Amino acid sequence: MPSRPKPVRAARETFYDVIVVGSGIAGLSFALKLAAQGRRVAIFTKKDRAESNTNHAQGGIAAVTSATGDFASHVRDTLEAGDGLCREDVVRSIVQDAPARIQELIALGVGFSTLADGRISLGKEGGHSKRRILHVKDMTGRAIEEALLGAVAASPRITLREHVFAIDLITTARLARSRRVSAGKDRVLGLYALDVRRKQVRTFRAPVVMLATGGVGQVYQFTTNPDIATGDGIAIAYRAGVAVENLEFIQFHPTALYTREGERFLISEAVRGEGAVLRNAAGVAFMKKYHPRADLAPRDVVARAIDVEMKRLGSRHVWLDLTVLPPGVARARFPNIYETCARHGIDVEQQWVPVVPAAHYLCGGVRTNLRAETWLAGLYACGEVACTGLHGANRLASNSLLEAVVLAHRGAEAVGEYLRAAPRARPAVPGWVDGDAQDPDERVVLEHNSLELKQTMWDYVGIVRTTKRLQRARARLAVLAREIEEYYWNFKVEPRLLELRNLVLVAGLIVECALRRKESRGLHWTLDYPAKLARARDTVLRKGGG
Ligand SMILES: Cc1cc2nc3c(=O)[nH]c(=O)nc-3n(C[C@H](O)[C@H](O)[C@H](O)COP(=O)(O)OP(=O)(O)OC[C@H]3O[C@@H](n4cnc5c(N)ncnc54)[C@H](O)[C@@H]3O)c2cc1C
Repeated sequence: MPSRPKPVRAARETFYDVIVVGSGIAGLSFALKLAAQGRRVAIFTKKDRAESNTNHAQGGIAAVTSATGDFASHVRDTLEAGDGLCREDVVRSIVQDAPARIQELIALGVGFSTLADGRISLGKEGGHSKRRILHVKDMTGRAIEEALLGAVAASPRITLREHVFAIDLITTARLARSRRVSAGKDRVLGLYALDVRRKQVRTFRAPVVMLATGGVGQVYQFTTNPDIATGDGIAIAYRAGVAVENLEFIQFHPTALYTREGERFLISEAVRGEGAVLRNAAGVAFMKKYHPRADLAPRDVVARAIDVEMKRLGSRHVWLDLTVLPPGVARARFPNIYETCARHGIDVEQQWVPVVPAAHYLCGGVRTNLRAETWLAGLYACGEVACTGLHGANRLASNSLLEAVVLAHRGAEAVGEYLRAAPRARPAVPGWVDGDAQDPDERVVLEHNSLELKQTMWDYVGIVRTTKRLQRARARLAVLAREIEEYYWNFKVEPRLLELRNLVLVAGLIVECALRRKESRGLHWTLDYPAKLARARDTVLRKGGG
């Protein structure tokens, strides 16, 4: 195999104080805070700037909206959803920080929906005992993304680079390995990234890298996530020896629009918050049978109930009935859902909507503390890529946007301190050399392996699991991983290849975590271990460390 990269001085290096990977709510919020400290920040994003999970968020952001509000019930609901695995101090801290972070979003121009009397309109979703979800109709994420991008564009200290794909970190340990000398304490020196338009891998230097790369939905055949959600940050961190954890906890959103073409548009839970009802193929409302909160049970309960009803009646989907809402409510409160369904020939005020579960959110991720710090000095993570302990074994709806803004704020404080004390030395690092790599001529391999990977995960690592299915997935993924790695070394890198390399690694890590958990808890439900163990533990994986 050609050795890539080779230890030569990089031809062109660009230096920043901080590199942020990702332009969703987490990356943009963090970059703004660092720029406010006077730092030079670069944001790299692999596609157009607004392409992110953030831009698709519908339901809203959960928060107690006054400093004297009911924090205790928000904490309680989060802990209950997390099924014993949340870090309680983290939950309390994030919930307490919410009002201040919401005020900042409002100051940036996010116009949360209001009631006729001018008070903020609060929605309700599964698992919430109270109305506490701020929203901008059903396009909350888009409104937040637009406000943050506007502020970033106005900041002279932030450079936002589109179509720059982060590949791997450069660290002192990596440098020491290439020079065959022993490393001291490992720290970040920068990263290699593909300038997609120029088809060139470049070396970018910074003592701090913030991973804000979002989720992993694209690991599965059916997902609500856009194409960018390929788990790149988790793969980058893991390859650098950083701990990742709790990846078995994949949240399947119960209600994605069922289409024959496979597209899975999300129908927000807020619709059920307003009174919509799930019905099985026979037209029977079934959720009361599964949970006292019926249609507003936590997401994992609803997704499993749908899975059971579909299997029991042999149907391809269940129905979501919005016709029970008062006339005009669906159109006024959920215009995006209303119009998307109309484009698919469904009038939600007259007809039931066919829905199925789809992979939606990753509760685990790169292990961080409440300051967004990872185990590697100079490497930070926040947003969906990170695991702080807020979500435990199952995320409470609309807590993820909240976590992202709180951790961006805390991370900025921590990075400010780190930069004041960080070593000033800038050791030379090896540039990226393609070696013997050729231009790709067998892209069909990528297409084929990508399909097989997603199908394997959907069929064997889905809502209800067994050890046998997980082992089957592990064996298939190992074969795919070998083929993809070979392709990676033989051909010049391009986004599809880099994503597939990350997807297969992350899929394998999800399976490893799932196999290690010998119980059913939260989103991890296995027929071989239906009971919950007395003590909840995190599943932590680290390269070389098991
Ligand atoms: C349909 C849908 C509805 C949702 N609704 C809600 C909701 O109502 N409330 C809620 O709290 N949560 C919701 N979520 C979850 C929430 O939107 C996400 O968890 C959150 O937006 C994640 O933000 P982020 O900044 O971490 O990542 P993202 O917003 O996904 O941003 C990731 C960024 O990283 C970039 N990137 C990734 N890899 C690389 C790489 N290698 N190099 C360069 N750039 C890279 C991407 O291009 C993107 O810009 C929803 C999610 C979906 C998909």
